Amino acid sequence: MKTEGSGKPESRPAEGPRRPSRALVRAEQKLRGIPVSPGIVISTIYDTTEEPAEAPRRRIAADQVETERTRLTDAAALSRKQVGKLKTRLSVLPEEAQAELEPLLDAYILMLGNSRLLRGARKRIGDELLAAETAVQDEAEAIAAAILATKDDDKAGLNRRAAEVREIGRRLTRNLLATPFRSLKDVPPGAILISDELTPADAALLEPGRVAGVATEEGGADGHTAIMLRALGIPAVLGCHGLTAAARRGDPVVLDGTTGALTLHPGPEALAAAKEGLAAQAKERTRLSKLRRLPAETTDGQQVELQANLEIPAELPLIAAAGAVGIGLLRTEFLFMNREDLPDEDAQVQAYRGIVEAMGQDPVTIRVLDWGGEKDMEALAEGVPVPTGPNPALGLRGIRLLLKKPDLLEEQFAAILRVATLGQVRILLPMVTVPSEVAQAREIYERVARRLRRRGDSIPDKLPPLGAMIETPGAALAADAIALEADFFAIGTNDLAMYTLAVDRAEIDVAHLYDPLHPAVLRLMQFATEAALRLRMPVSVCGEMAGNPKLVPLLLGLGLRTLSMNASSVPRVKQAIRSLNIDDCARFARRVMEQSDPARIAQLVERFSAK
Ligand code: PEP
Ligand code: MG
Repeated sequence: MKTEGSGKPESRPAEGPRRPSRALVRAEQKLRGIPVSPGIVISTIYDTTEEPAEAPRRRIAADQVETERTRLTDAAALSRKQVGKLKTRLSVLPEEAQAELEPLLDAYILMLGNSRLLRGARKRIGDELLAAETAVQDEAEAIAAAILATKDDDKAGLNRRAAEVREIGRRLTRNLLATPFRSLKDVPPGAILISDELTPADAALLEPGRVAGVATEEGGADGHTAIMLRALGIPAVLGCHGLTAAARRGDPVVLDGTTGALTLHPGPEALAAAKEGLAAQAKERTRLSKLRRLPAETTDGQQVELQANLEIPAELPLIAAAGAVGIGLLRTEFLFMNREDLPDEDAQVQAYRGIVEAMGQDPVTIRVLDWGGEKDMEALAEGVPVPTGPNPALGLRGIRLLLKKPDLLEEQFAAILRVATLGQVRILLPMVTVPSEVAQAREIYERVARRLRRRGDSIPDKLPPLGAMIETPGAALAADAIALEADFFAIGTNDLAMYTLAVDRAEIDVAHLYDPLHPAVLRLMQFATEAALRLRMPVSVCGEMAGNPKLVPLLLGLGLRTLSMNASSVPRVKQAIRSLNIDDCARFARRVMEQSDPARIAQLVERFSAK
């Protein structure tokens, strides 16, 4: 990322010293991040990191003291990590801002160590039986009050120190609460929300009609937060270094989710360019909407199925509007998020029924709960093992957790089976690595079906197909064996790339290494696709690759004919398909598969799509 700032430093104001002064950033400043959801927005900043974290006062029982102290220790470690990260990214800011922020961040890191604030909070937890967040708030307030009461002529300095303690108190509280930002509901209509990071659960709470755009410091292009934002059609730039240090609430801004550019205090030229971009965007939207009723068919008559990925019911209207035919991936974990408790069988039936009925006779592929990794769900913590091991992505995630907790799987299978007569339902298992996981899941599936029949529930005579996600290298290389157990495959290129390349898909520091065009990923996709095609078994791609029109020739060339993507990508993908010939795609794919260098593959892809 680079910044181009010509802000002239002015002396620091007496209060509010947490950020560079307003005057410092008032001149136009360009930041760059990862474009994750297209669209241009001209608006103002709404900074959730400035929001005081509201925590109701909470008392605890004597036997909870140690638990609360551990929560505090964990929150301090996380806060130190966050501030440390901010510090490593200072180099992208103008020098004046660096000089101002570096000592401040150092002071924060010290306060998050064995400081008076943390010692005092720990003591309050035990002495006064307070929850960690209440103890932190009380201690931060007490320290700030003591600083302000000090006899010293440097009032500005005292104000600054008190504000710093309160800021650290707020950061600790936010991390202790670990709940979706409550301030999300207060975002003024049309504002651009900025934050250190946004969890997938936070993103699922955003109202597309209200939040005009999103920008964060953290995050990668294929993490679930990015996926959610694309699904909701909210223009977004993630992984934008220097953002929270440079931007303040109310700052005017232009966000371009297509290029990843974010311009603070845009000058006349930047504003004129953004307005032009908006006009072009509106024109393109009208043009693409005309494709809705046309078939997804190549020039030589090959039909391609274009389906939608769905996370929350709010996206349903977008599916028909985009011209997708059915749902290729319903990520049910999003229905389980942001809740106090787990939805029981009846509550799940309600949720699935609405979706299946809305799709008529178009397919609805319901993936059973893929919990784990970054998709952390508070509700599952009670009574369900939480994958908090050293590496949650390699731990109890997806089908592994469900087979360990068969009650959860049985309940979900039962709920899906109860709506299966209403449409064309399929069931998908996440994170499969060995064929026996599919076999075990099928045993449970059939047992549940027998129970429902005995109970008199109406379920289809022929059970809906049970498929496997191919999203780990192990599953891809064992695809021929898994194909003997599963009824269909859905290739999850997001996790397949992450696990193949050992690169966290949501981690900004290694985002440059996350490349689904790496030949290792493509070879695994090819192997799995061919294993399915040999058995004439349905196979689709439902990772983010499927929604990239430039990659369509390659996917068709590899033999794939079903692609599932976020609804808003469907028109562009359809447009690409309608200009392609299958023989050309097959030749192109053969050429790509001969390459060993990801950069060369990217170049070939660009060239082919520019033809
Ligand atoms: C994938 O991994 O590609 C996928 C579609 O699943 P998710 O993104 O939900 O992990
Ligand atoms: Mg996945």
